[in-house]
Amino acid sequence: MQLKDNSLLKQQAFIDGAFCAAQDGRVIEVTNPATGAFLGSVPNMGADDTRRAIVAANRAWAGWKAKTGKQRGTVLRNWYNLIMANADDLAIIMTAEQGKPLAEAQGEIAYAASFIEWFAEEAKRVAGDTLPSPWEDRRIVVTKEAIGVCAAITPWNFPAAMITRKVGPALAAGCPIIVKPSELTPFTALALAELANRAGLPPGLLNVVTGDARAIGGELTANPLVRKLSFTGSTAIGKLLMQQCAPTVKKVSLELGGNAPFIVFDDADLDAAVQGALASKFRNAGQTCVCANRIYVQDGVYDAFAAKLASAVDALKVGDGMEQGVTQGPLIDQKAVKKVEEHVADAIAKGARVLTGGQRHALGGSFFQPTVLTDVTPQMQVAGEETFGPLAPLFRFHTETEVIQQANDTEFGLASYFYSRDIGRVWRVAEALECGMVGVNTGIISNEVAPFGGVKQSGLGREGSKYGIEDYLVVKYICLGIQ
Ligand code: ADP
Repeated sequence: MQLKDNSLLKQQAFIDGAFCAAQDGRVIEVTNPATGAFLGSVPNMGADDTRRAIVAANRAWAGWKAKTGKQRGTVLRNWYNLIMANADDLAIIMTAEQGKPLAEAQGEIAYAASFIEWFAEEAKRVAGDTLPSPWEDRRIVVTKEAIGVCAAITPWNFPAAMITRKVGPALAAGCPIIVKPSELTPFTALALAELANRAGLPPGLLNVVTGDARAIGGELTANPLVRKLSFTGSTAIGKLLMQQCAPTVKKVSLELGGNAPFIVFDDADLDAAVQGALASKFRNAGQTCVCANRIYVQDGVYDAFAAKLASAVDALKVGDGMEQGVTQGPLIDQKAVKKVEEHVADAIAKGARVLTGGQRHALGGSFFQPTVLTDVTPQMQVAGEETFGPLAPLFRFHTETEVIQQANDTEFGLASYFYSRDIGRVWRVAEALECGMVGVNTGIISNEVAPFGGVKQSGLGREGSKYGIEDYLVVKYICLGIQ
């Protein structure tokens, strides 16, 4: 890995303002998914190290909470500036450990930094309320306070942004936070911590604990000093963590799986819909929770859309994300490849046709061909499960009512997309879709200003936007006697 600043590649965890090893010295190895090359190791920490981070965070809380929003915002702004100044190195670290094309990694760093910038500003806007009292002799004042020590458990698909959109609002609100990044992508997290340290964030406020997910997660969820958990990852682990948080009644935010419908109506701008589908489906090789998972195309444009999408998909370039022009990196690991293979095989067995792709890529490893399947039906596995890979399954539909019913026929409800130019239909369908986010005539919806989150089993809470900081605040009611 060729970095301008090699001191950004940290092979130690970050606790109480210092980089450190695990108490017992154990490590886990991190490899590059494109090449299999060993990149380095990080501490394999467990419950004891996590407890040390929680105690440090709790100690740091009072001083940070007592600062003004503007003071906290200034530190966050410094951090934002440092992230942007080191964006090239951060992107290289990310591509090396995660696999996404370098241009996408650069895009993610800017996106990740935007949450720090946004919440640096929002830190100044945490306002309370005064309410008209029903009593002549007392007044009602409502304040908002930092909830306390927070924990964040984050996935590998966005190694920077999933962290900053939790850490940004936590720090802005006045809370310390302990981050457990994915064991597959810890180096991006540790580089961010190094930059936070350089930005002047006092010790204990941001801790990055690497290692044994179950042991660290167990301590973070059981320890009564932790008041809030924010998790992004699979629905199964989200449910488990929610359960683990129940005995100590922690506030919980969850960003879980999706099964996004992407609907193309007859009246859509077809070329725009193809571009939208390509962006939504194949970004990060299909490994995002808002990726289009089921593409529904109306009868009248089905064949034309399928042909256009297949030719756009054929133009994608698969390879090592560090290579110029590559648009599709490897999948994160063999488990991910097996899932795509399983979905393809199941669909073919039940009558789907492969328009392009459908197999492991000749590059080997965890590379998979970008794939388009036609004649996909609700009975196939892809209809009910998130593929999390470069597979675009095309379902055929006839009426608006039918497609809304199918789109909502899932326990998930994160993102939905549709293309139509009929204003009445646009409004009707946007209202009818059961989800937290709707992209109308666009395949890309995420930014720091808009609230990100789901309904049903896709999760709880919202990240980013003016709503995102609320998850890190508690309301306090003060009844003031004036007699
Ligand atoms: P994915 O399938 O996307 O890897 P996971 O839910 O397995 O999703 O992982 C998301 C995050 O949750 C990662 O940081 C992972 O280490 C962590 N994780 C996995 N299992 C547990 C667990 N039992 N307790 C706490 N964290 C966990």
